[in-house]
Amino acid sequence: MAAKPRECRARVSAVRTLTPEILEADLELQDPPALEFEAGQWVSIPFGPKIVRAYSIASTPRSPKRITLCADVAPGGIGSEWFRALKPGDEVGFKGPLGGFVFTRADRRRPLFVAEEIGIVPIRAILAELYETGFGRPATLIYWARNPGWLAYDAEFRSLARRFPAFSYHPVVGQADREWTGEQDGAPRAVDRLTPGVNGLVAYVSGGGEMINRVREVLVAKGLDRKSVKWEKFW
Ligand SMILES: Cc1cc2nc3c(=O)[nH]c(=O)nc-3n(C[C@H](O)[C@H](O)[C@H](O)COP(=O)(O)OP(=O)(O)OC[C@H]3O[C@@H](n4cnc5c(N)ncnc54)[C@H](O)[C@@H]3O)c2cc1C
Repeated sequence: MAAKPRECRARVSAVRTLTPEILEADLELQDPPALEFEAGQWVSIPFGPKIVRAYSIASTPRSPKRITLCADVAPGGIGSEWFRALKPGDEVGFKGPLGGFVFTRADRRRPLFVAEEIGIVPIRAILAELYETGFGRPATLIYWARNPGWLAYDAEFRSLARRFPAFSYHPVVGQADREWTGEQDGAPRAVDRLTPGVNGLVAYVSGGGEMINRVREVLVAKGLDRKSVKWEKFW
């Protein structure tokens, strides 16, 4: 059964810059000493009465004493400014774990993961958890970003695809550069092109609302029922 959300306190132990505008922060749990959660869930950071920002947990439940958050700080609002200012030693209060964008292992359907930019965070946690714990079944990730520099965790997914032939990884960008070895297209068109059939499929789609709607339309047009498209809307 999923853990109940509760107020938590943690301390920042490290901050890393993945790309100029995508940052990771490690939080060491203090109270409780470990966080029980499922890969794909998120935490809520309070900024004032009724003002919160959600951040998905990028790390897996296998390290419950330290969670990693990952943010795109380009939006530049209250959440981005807070994340950009984080430094080791800072205390962070949050509520969690929250959300139901989690993978059901007992579900025998073939998962198709679709992420738009920073929407990759919960999917990264789910995939890392699945492959760390011996998930041998086929899974596909279609990961879209405006250009290759915005594909956080790209090297990790390429490595995963080399180690686990059942995992197929399709990075797709709106704008390629010279060294680019992936594809160039829009996310919904890439999903259309790379999904020949939807028989026995379950989709996990994460990112902006517009992309989620368009990807759902593509999959439903191919015959998938709407309920088989699970989604996490970041913006
Ligand atoms: C369930 C959930 C999980 C989330 N997990 C993460 C996460 O792991 N990492 C993360 O960076 N963000 C995540 N978000 C988004 C996050 O909560 C904030 O909305 C984001 O950090 C922007 O906050 P802000 O205060 O800086 O900007 P705001 O003032 O809230 O937003 C400014 C504008 O930018 C839009 N916007 C917000 N984020 C983006 C984006 N990435 N790309 C394009 N437009 C955007 C907003 O809709 C708004 O119009 C999540 C949101 C939800 C609902």
